[in-house]
Amino acid sequence: MGEDGGSKFGRKSSISNFGVAAAKIVSKMKVKLADLNSFLTCCICGGYLINATTITECVHTFCRSCLLQHIKSSNKCPSCNGIIHPSQPLKSLRPDQTMQDIVYKLVPGLRENEEKREIEFNQKAGLPTKKNSPQTNDKAVSDYVKKNYAGGIRIKDHQPICMEGVSERVPSLERKFMMVPLRSTILHLKKFLASKILNDIDKWGNVDIYCNGELMGKEHSIEFVFVTKWRRQNPILVLQYSC
Ligand SMILES: [Zn+2]
Ligand SMILES: [Zn+2]
Repeated sequence: MGEDGGSKFGRKSSISNFGVAAAKIVSKMKVKLADLNSFLTCCICGGYLINATTITECVHTFCRSCLLQHIKSSNKCPSCNGIIHPSQPLKSLRPDQTMQDIVYKLVPGLRENEEKREIEFNQKAGLPTKKNSPQTNDKAVSDYVKKNYAGGIRIKDHQPICMEGVSERVPSLERKFMMVPLRSTILHLKKFLASKILNDIDKWGNVDIYCNGELMGKEHSIEFVFVTKWRRQNPILVLQYSC
């Protein structure tokens, strides 16, 4: 993130002109894949995440197979040593498809290698070879990465975010990934969602936004949420909404 703090775009930028603002910005900061590696790798095996799986208690993410192996002998998180679950650790694990899509998009060839490996394994074990899993997020993630990480470019003073409905019943956004100014607030996002989903910006009071399951106050800035609520667990801030 920029450390000069003097955002030229901060308060003035309303959510509706994010796209325009983003396109206009010429001052950019380089982010190399190496800088992102710590977010994309599993601390158990040291490799890129495969079947990314998150511990709901502490939101640390590992490969599914690494984590399953680990919990056979320990019920503590390999990263922070927090208790995963007092009795049934499996209950506290959830697949993190967004994270996995990002890893696959940022690491060329990884998905293909993994699929090849799985097919070979299944053939050797005499198991049926399953069809490729649905890649629902693929297009959106691909567009996002192309736009924001191609050549290692990141837009200064902005935060990449991903917004998803809390459940299937909540209408989804046409574009769930966007760049928002660090100084914009949850209120801006509520207004944006109200205009997109409820077709009425004045209904922003009906929109709730959550980070890691916690309801966000409307006065919080995106930068504050990223640092204190999301705790930088991934370079892309994931928020859920309901309305
Ligand atoms: Zn692993
Ligand atoms: Zn942990």
